[in-house]
Amino acid sequence: MELYPNVYRIESLFGGRNLFQYLFVGDNIVLADTGIAETPEKVIFPFFDKLKIKPQQLTLAVTTHSDVDHQGGNDAIKKASPQTMLSCGEADRELVEDPGTLYTQRYNFLKDEHGVGFEDEPSPDAGKHRPMDLCFTGGERIHLRDGWWLEVLHVPGHSRGHLALYDPQKRALFSGDAVHGRGCPKATGEMAIPVTYYHIDAYLSTIRYIEHLPIDVLYSGHWPIMRGEEIRDFLAESRRTVEIADRAILQSLAQNPSGLTMKELIDAVGSAVGDWPNDTWFFAMFPIKGHMDRLEQHGKVKPVRGARPAKWALA
Ligand SMILES: [Zn+2]
Repeated sequence: MELYPNVYRIESLFGGRNLFQYLFVGDNIVLADTGIAETPEKVIFPFFDKLKIKPQQLTLAVTTHSDVDHQGGNDAIKKASPQTMLSCGEADRELVEDPGTLYTQRYNFLKDEHGVGFEDEPSPDAGKHRPMDLCFTGGERIHLRDGWWLEVLHVPGHSRGHLALYDPQKRALFSGDAVHGRGCPKATGEMAIPVTYYHIDAYLSTIRYIEHLPIDVLYSGHWPIMRGEEIRDFLAESRRTVEIADRAILQSLAQNPSGLTMKELIDAVGSAVGDWPNDTWFFAMFPIKGHMDRLEQHGKVKPVRGARPAKWALA
């Protein structure tokens, strides 16, 4: 789908959710996100065909952040077009380069202590090990053609090195999964999975940062296109969801002085938010761990000594 002249949204489904990549066609051709392992061959290159673009013409692929559905196609892109440069946020580099590292450090880092996580072996969707050619820290410009460029923004929270691309001429932000509203929807509209931010203060700063950017339209990794007031509402809802989670955690800990496990906190937060499908609540382990780290730093909660699985109690 053409969003505006020379800018396209490439669309597929992953687990019932929309999965979007964005394509910018100037003198340089730039792709934002590469999908899962099969997305380049099945979706991206066929889309290129319709525009009469060859994979070898792709200048740069930017992975917005370290997740299977945004980085999985990097290997297939590089195989089809060795001269295309692969890139991501510097702080996500190790996770984007290697599916094994993505699983141990991001998806399963709570498994030993809290008994929550994913399968041990990376899913085939995660693609293969593939080094980045360059990394961004935010503040860079990607030249598309004379008078047209993208600004690279660092928008952490969901991941440490999360990037967004900003087209100042169109006041358009390509935000990946930087902000989550109340959760990630299915293509059919109902909620698919919980919010999955992790670094709470960074996430709140990112919400505030985007609120103050001059943007008319927001294009993301999975959410519908938003304009004007819809963007304000989405950002406000994103912040409110952080507050709901924080409050639900503190309230349930107050009712359970002997402490709560991660799984019990997941149930508390899942019930408080209300509209996440029950079988996906475990995804909330990421924000809950982030909240617990922050509450611990602020002296409000403490780990219960010797508890297995680990428990937290009010300090
Ligand atoms: Zn995603």
